[in-house]
Amino acid sequence: MELKTSYLAKHVRQLQPSGIRKFFDATAGMTDVISLGVGEPDFVTPWNVREAAILSLKDGFTSYTANAGLIELREEIANYIDENYCVSYDPESEITVTVGASEAIDIALRAILDPGDEVLVVEPCFVSYAPLVTLAGGVPVIVESSRDHDFKVRPEQLEDAVTDRTKAIMICSPNNPTGSMLSRDEMEQVCKVAKKHDLLILSDEIYAELVYDELYTSFAAIEGMQERTILVSGFSKDLAMTGWRLGFVCAPKEITEGMLKIHQYAIMCASTMAQHAAIEGLKNGRRDVTEMRKSYRQRRNYIVQSLNEMGLTCYKPEGAFYTFPSIESTGMDSETFATRLLHTERVVVVPGNAFGKSGEGHVRCSYATSMAQLQEAMKRIRHFMEEIN
Ligand code: PMP
Repeated sequence: MELKTSYLAKHVRQLQPSGIRKFFDATAGMTDVISLGVGEPDFVTPWNVREAAILSLKDGFTSYTANAGLIELREEIANYIDENYCVSYDPESEITVTVGASEAIDIALRAILDPGDEVLVVEPCFVSYAPLVTLAGGVPVIVESSRDHDFKVRPEQLEDAVTDRTKAIMICSPNNPTGSMLSRDEMEQVCKVAKKHDLLILSDEIYAELVYDELYTSFAAIEGMQERTILVSGFSKDLAMTGWRLGFVCAPKEITEGMLKIHQYAIMCASTMAQHAAIEGLKNGRRDVTEMRKSYRQRRNYIVQSLNEMGLTCYKPEGAFYTFPSIESTGMDSETFATRLLHTERVVVVPGNAFGKSGEGHVRCSYATSMAQLQEAMKRIRHFMEEIN
């Protein structure tokens, strides 16, 4: 019998590979490369957190946990959110421990979307949002935030995009790739739209701990919002645990039950040893987070000043560990800029268009790398700018 031309589902065939991955593949085989490309901390997970995982293995905790995660971990997550963001969740029925924030976003979308339901996706944003909406059978409706408003979405843009199929607004603040963070007042404006049209907010709060000058507000903490918020977060960024693959999602009971069904069939439970490590991280890891935050803040100040001095204008990001300078002065598009920078100076930055059309004209530079590496990168970029001018 003849083989089919492709066994892939049509919607998977149509899915584009991540623009970040594509760009990293280009560095294969190159030496002396400085990467401002990766979206992960340069720190190693704090030792006490690693040790907790080792101890859990020594103690023989090698079985599955409850589908929703160890109850002790869910209790710690509930305490942490209550103490830091003044929102109270029931660990028994409103918290699910997931394989990274990535899985949390996936199961949240799959739990709430019927085929054809629309989700307003505020771009530029993390590369997975729109593809995950599509994979969940939904339709991503892109709402473009712009540099003129420091990449903060305006409520009238959301209003204009709402239809009778809209189910949720997906938003990330502080944002990857822009570092921009909504003020409480701006969040309230977004919430007004959500309430008026009876929408959920899928709030990616993975950078909540990496906020430098202001207090962080969770969408769930805004009056009347907890019941329509799906709060996604995790341990990858603040505790430098990207490789452990651990996150969580807090949501009203009904939505949690839906997500849990998907998680139970698709995943079973998150890694047991990672869960033991995270308990320690939540109990005793705050000092490490404070230290890392201090270091990122110093690097942010340095990189923002350096890029601005070179004519790569960027505003000061309030959170996360990215700057998103404009490359307008070079006359290049973001892919050309990043490719030429890589080949002539061996510095990796990510073209802004990898994060949506509105990211064009910018590149993402991560400052989650050592100060020495940052200084060398700035020297090379300065040289690049001198050569092209
Ligand atoms: N959301 C955002 C905004 C991110 O930047 C990332 C990681 N780059 C994730 C989610 C995924 O995080 P995790 O490692 O917990 O899956």
